Amino acid sequence: MAFPEHSKYVIIGAGIHGMSSAWRLAERLKESGKGSGEDIVILEKSGIAAGASGVACGVVRNNYFQPAMRKLMAHSVDIWESDPEGLSYHPVGYMQISSESMRDDVGSIYEQQQAIGYESVFIEGEQKSTEYMKGIFNDWQAQGITSVLHEKRGGYSNQTKTMYALADKVEAMGVRIITGVTVKGFVTENGSGAVSAVETDKGNISCEQVIVGAGPWARDFWDMLDMPKQITLKDLQGKTHDGVDMWRFWQLEEGVLQVDPSVMMDNDGNMPPVIHVDTDATLYSTVDGSKVTDEMWGIYYKPDWHFNGIQGGASPYKVDTPVDEVAIDPYGPSSPEFVASAEFAHMWVSALAHCQARFEGTMPKYHKESSGGIGCFTPDSFPVIDHFRENVAMIADSNHGWKMIGVGHLIADEILGEKQELLEPFRFSRFAEGKLHPVSNSPYPWS
Ligand SMILES: Cc1cc2nc3c(=O)[nH]c(=O)nc-3n(C[C@H](O)[C@H](O)[C@H](O)COP(=O)(O)OP(=O)(O)OC[C@H]3O[C@@H](n4cnc5c(N)ncnc54)[C@H](O)[C@@H]3O)c2cc1C
Repeated sequence: MAFPEHSKYVIIGAGIHGMSSAWRLAERLKESGKGSGEDIVILEKSGIAAGASGVACGVVRNNYFQPAMRKLMAHSVDIWESDPEGLSYHPVGYMQISSESMRDDVGSIYEQQQAIGYESVFIEGEQKSTEYMKGIFNDWQAQGITSVLHEKRGGYSNQTKTMYALADKVEAMGVRIITGVTVKGFVTENGSGAVSAVETDKGNISCEQVIVGAGPWARDFWDMLDMPKQITLKDLQGKTHDGVDMWRFWQLEEGVLQVDPSVMMDNDGNMPPVIHVDTDATLYSTVDGSKVTDEMWGIYYKPDWHFNGIQGGASPYKVDTPVDEVAIDPYGPSSPEFVASAEFAHMWVSALAHCQARFEGTMPKYHKESSGGIGCFTPDSFPVIDHFRENVAMIADSNHGWKMIGVGHLIADEILGEKQELLEPFRFSRFAEGKLHPVSNSPYPWS
């Protein structure tokens, strides 16, 4: 098929956000009789799920300290639940298991979940927390846990399976996904900021509306849109900071323990919830008993037949390279620079053993292949979802985004003229206005 010279809607990036936007847009155009999926192309420089969406752990949770994130996640969970089988989604629930420093934060998350009708249970106190966990896993042994938030909704999905299912769905609606095409820039009409064409290495495509879902490549599209590399930011105390980098990169570390995933079944032989532990208990090596850390640490894990083992991760680390010099390509496990480290593997498996006796001494089973990937973060670590240059919508998030399958739907509604309340707290203007998202005591920059 010839490379198109025009498409009314051009979506950049065949990741979760690009696909979700195309899905909703195609549906809405058809319903309204004003078009169809044939008015949409997705341009992708590599292949479907070549970016963060292809390496994500796939966890879907509501557990965020930031009220706006919780509301947005509740909307996305509705979409995951609308077709669990089709989306390869496992609604097993999710648990935030924490030491004392996080109890109040998590307690407030629980209260607000009740307020928005998101089903969860909150257990407080060391003895009760241990009893609750032993009721699920009889080998539970983590010490110093004083609260457990058990979200009954959420769980995880199998990233690449979901992505291919979404690709089939949108293609069946007439959307054209063109892989192997790199977007190089935007063409604007004289005297207008609006984008009249997308410039690619295969030629220009004229268009009326662009949606950018570029994950870790958000930095590059920000530059193509002539947006500022550094911004002025008002913090939560009202203090103004000049010259703050708009983007920074973090390495998200994940890995797989190659054991039969069914070793992690619960006491009744059922699939357990996704487990997430944040604690300040001293962590000792499961290899030689030496101290790994006495600082706050966090891990998450789940049995996963897609990865064929116990899959999960730990808190990320900040990439020190100056932001403009960070090499995003080749991405993920192919990166020569940004993959999960040997220290991560030792810490993560030791932490599994800290939590459950069944994982003691399993270090030799750690899968030694490269894994993980970098994420491109905003100054407050939460996404920017906004409209620029009159007709460019951008979903800039490579850190929370897998679970946010609903964001593309909301942005599609917005470009069809319906402003979405749920997206308001994620506009770029929040940095100048001092409307940043609140910060929790979690060891993660994004919780
Ligand atoms: C290791 C890791 C684990 C994660 N785990 C989770 C998790 O458990 N739960 C969760 O909710 N989130 C998780 N995330 C975050 C989540 O993966 C991302 O937020 C989400 O996948 C971003 O989706 P996206 O569609 O914006 O970007 P991507 O999936 O990165 O897609 C962007 C696409 O744009 C393409 N592209 C880039 N530049 C160009 C160009 N110039 N021209 C054409 N195409 C281009 C890329 O090739 C890529 O395919 C994780 C992230 C990482 C790195």
